[in-house]
Amino acid sequence: MGSTEYINRVLKNIKKISPRQPIFYQAATEVLNNLKPLFDRESKYQKHAILERIIMPEKTTIFRTVYINDAGKACVHFGYRVEFNSAIGPYKGGLRFHPTVNLDVLKFLGFEQIFKNSLTGLNIGGAKGGANFDPKGKSDGEIMRFCQSFMNELAKLIGDVKDVPAGDIGVGGREIGYMYGQYKKLTSRFDGALTGKGLSWGGSLARTEATGYGCVYFADEMLKTKKQELKGKKCVVSGAGNVAIYTVEKLYQYGALPLTVSDSTGYVYDKDGIDLDLLKKLKEVDRVSLKEYVKEKKQAKFVPVSDYKTGRNGVWDIPCYAAFPSATQNELNLEDAKTLYNNGCRLVCEGANMPSNLEAIEFFLSKKDFCFGPGKAANAGGVATSALEMAQNASMSSWSFEEVDNKLKNIMKHIFDISYETSKEFNDAGNIVLGANIAGFRKVADAMIDQGYV
Ligand code: GLU
Repeated sequence: MGSTEYINRVLKNIKKISPRQPIFYQAATEVLNNLKPLFDRESKYQKHAILERIIMPEKTTIFRTVYINDAGKACVHFGYRVEFNSAIGPYKGGLRFHPTVNLDVLKFLGFEQIFKNSLTGLNIGGAKGGANFDPKGKSDGEIMRFCQSFMNELAKLIGDVKDVPAGDIGVGGREIGYMYGQYKKLTSRFDGALTGKGLSWGGSLARTEATGYGCVYFADEMLKTKKQELKGKKCVVSGAGNVAIYTVEKLYQYGALPLTVSDSTGYVYDKDGIDLDLLKKLKEVDRVSLKEYVKEKKQAKFVPVSDYKTGRNGVWDIPCYAAFPSATQNELNLEDAKTLYNNGCRLVCEGANMPSNLEAIEFFLSKKDFCFGPGKAANAGGVATSALEMAQNASMSSWSFEEVDNKLKNIMKHIFDISYETSKEFNDAGNIVLGANIAGFRKVADAMIDQGYV
């Protein structure tokens, strides 16, 4: 059958075999529709039933996770690990602890991770996991007990050449530490089964900074094709986690002016530029709401979520040249996209996973004077540096910050180049969504063909 018919048949089947998973369906729709020009050229993917296989996780584990809170009450959560694809390497991908986590969300994230990891050029397969647990407002003791309970099941799946989780939303250095401690206790192994570890026990320098730094390196590569640069440009950033903080840091290093950050309580607009030290103190040390920012910075404005127009994040209304959505999926819709563009924005580089919805992406791609960097390419610096951490663990060595950062920069350039070259190969030069999807898919699909029907 023709490529369009093949793709549509598989998409229709996803609805049947994975009902009520709209976010996974959205991610699959974007990737599959982009593969049409490749399938028009190559019949082998259809012949080997690659789409039917690649949309199905190799293994999904769902487990009960119980811990006792400080009040002595038993709290019960769903734990998950979706091991999506291991054609090109051990499963790799983060763990998300957030109340919105469910199988739909983790399948979307795991699916994206396959192609993202492939684009890095490193040998890592795709996976994602997590729990519908909210670390916000919990004591250290509660976090520790939850992480230990979660690891009691996760340890049965992971290992340094098997499946290597890391952080994502709600999982940072503290949570990785508690989980690693429990992993060691259960397995008696000190190996690289988790990444994002502490620096004195196997972590890599520059891992914390990597996603944000990588995203700005990617933006810079995109702008070079338009003979533009970040220097002197106003930028908006959403989110206030690891990705957003180090995007802000790198933007300053490039001479740009980041004006905003946001969290679940609202956003901060600081016309003088976000105070990086204050942001780090509030989010990395005190772990408090961005509301606190304006107590120290009188010229800045805090807009609470309750004031957002029809639920839209207000950061997209601030005039800027470049936007870095670094919070979560579907945080930027068509109206946001139009507002950004009409206010002069000419670049969106995604630090989060799938922050722009399908209509917003279509709008950005329709503008010839616009650079759009999709998350699976632009935010791959985090997982790439996780793979560098795995390499250091395997060789019992640790590299300097400069060495890791240089490798990261080269990897981001490689991801941009392969995506750009592939977009050219398929006669849509500069469409990085198309280029990234085809390039990421092709490597994995060819490996699947080589390895037979498993
Ligand atoms: N959670 C990050 C991502 O979305 C990092 C995963 C990792 O380092 O394994 O890519």
